[in-house]
Amino acid sequence: MTERFEGSFTQQEPIPEDGIAAALAVMRNGRLHRYNTAPGEIAEAALLEEEFAALTGASYCLAVASGGVAMTTALRASGVGPGDRVLSNAFTLAPVPGAIAAVGAVPVFVEATEALTIDLEDLAAKIGQAKVLLLSHMRGHICDMEALMALCDAHGVTVIEDCAHTMGAHWGGVQSGRFGRFGCFSTQTYKHVNSGEGGLLISDDAEGMARAIVLSGSYMLYDRHRAGPPPEAFEAVKYETPNISGRMDNLRAAILRPQLRALPEQAARWNARYRVVEAGLRDLAGLSLIQRPAKEGFVASSFQFLLPGWEPQAVRAVLSRCLDRGVELKWFGAPEPVGFTSRYDSWRYAPASPLPRTDAVLAGLVDMRLPLTFSLDDCAQIARIIRAEVAAVWQSEAAI
Ligand SMILES: *Cc1c(COP(=O)(O)O)cnc(C)c1O
Repeated sequence: MTERFEGSFTQQEPIPEDGIAAALAVMRNGRLHRYNTAPGEIAEAALLEEEFAALTGASYCLAVASGGVAMTTALRASGVGPGDRVLSNAFTLAPVPGAIAAVGAVPVFVEATEALTIDLEDLAAKIGQAKVLLLSHMRGHICDMEALMALCDAHGVTVIEDCAHTMGAHWGGVQSGRFGRFGCFSTQTYKHVNSGEGGLLISDDAEGMARAIVLSGSYMLYDRHRAGPPPEAFEAVKYETPNISGRMDNLRAAILRPQLRALPEQAARWNARYRVVEAGLRDLAGLSLIQRPAKEGFVASSFQFLLPGWEPQAVRAVLSRCLDRGVELKWFGAPEPVGFTSRYDSWRYAPASPLPRTDAVLAGLVDMRLPLTFSLDDCAQIARIIRAEVAAVWQSEAAI
């Protein structure tokens, strides 16, 4: 009898009980807006910012309505405006070029490597074309950050990090989001902490963060922020920075605070699952695992592998055979965007020249979520199913 996986790839864990209790307390007091506080009370949103700044080692933190708002706020606070060009990864998800489009700017896409990171050679070739790089640590893969920062610093390019998939991760011991001028995080359901929607922005730059706080919709109440720059930093920016509402509320912040405390433990649980899948797919003809550099302290909430050089119909056959056995894989090589698997040439608002290296990688790139509701046994079973189906298709293709 062939085994079938019965779990759900989109089912996250419940909100921890202390998060539920904190959410109930906010609902009972009715003060959900972050600036609506009783005398002497500190808003949950302000506490969350203080705690996330401490966790990442950043001087400043701002909680916002989504990861997308974190990115548009960082771009605006860095002076990006209509018609400007912004370097970014060709291999990322739609909210990244979407954030660039939201400020009227135009992405310049940079090739991806087989390690699924930005291609530093292509970045070096294109670096003169823009003053800002919106760097996406897509699916949690982190490039050589020292090399990237040296290149960008040498050319005066401001780096903004999209850390939607790297909350809790680090490169050489430095937290993801701490290399660039801004680090942007998402607290949306499918990321490393879950408040349904939400985002966090970190920075050491007082002027940039003052602009970001005013941009987020602070109505001159910026002195209520506990992880914001000192009042002087706002003097120069408060009259000239528009108030573009994108705040986080106290209910979401209350749900997130206990999850932040559990993040290191959750990261270890994710990585244990990743290692089980990785071990189960090792040494299989036709399948390449993604090499992870020793310096990369990743948090693996998803898993990718490559079927390099495979014909599209063979990749499709693997996906459909796995799906028949309950294993939901996504393919980044599909010509039409399906679910989240959109690719640079499907973002037609952002004209792109052909990117042959990225095309070759995406043509064989398979992706799946690894929610913490999966046990280690589930992960071993998933790997067995993928292994069997990849081997079956590989052998039948070889026979042709
Ligand atoms: C989810 C995501 C974001 C931003 O997410 P929001 O849904 O706006 O919170 C940014 N970048 C990547 C790569 C993402 O997957």
